[in-house]
Amino acid sequence: MTIGVMRIVLRTETGRRSDVVVPSAEEAGARVDSASWWEYGLCRGWDADLFCAPDGMSPSRKRAQETRAKRICRTCPVRERCLAEAMARDEQAGVWGGLDTEERRRLERRRRGMRRSS
Ligand code: SF4
Repeated sequence: MTIGVMRIVLRTETGRRSDVVVPSAEEAGARVDSASWWEYGLCRGWDADLFCAPDGMSPSRKRAQETRAKRICRTCPVRERCLAEAMARDEQAGVWGGLDTEERRRLERRRRGMRRSS
């Protein structure tokens, strides 16, 4: 069952347009209960630091690293689920579902705006 799915296109830091389908909060909550989605994540084969830059990394290096991580996320079969979980728990660090922290914040602001205007 699909509840209140929103398709949102946003511009990422790298200038690419990222077309993501974001499940509603209710659906995201339901998905968080599913423990096995993570097993399908492409990042499992990579160093976790690639997706969550360690403290002290220079901003330019961090950006380059995040771009690399996002490239991996782009073809991940559980991208939407990953993003939904990160949004549901207001994840404050790292790349999740192909979006970095600032992009997730922007997306959340847009979602709130869309809810208010509907
Ligand atoms: S979307 Fe990215 S961070 Fe999420 S599981 Fe897939 S590869 Fe990992």
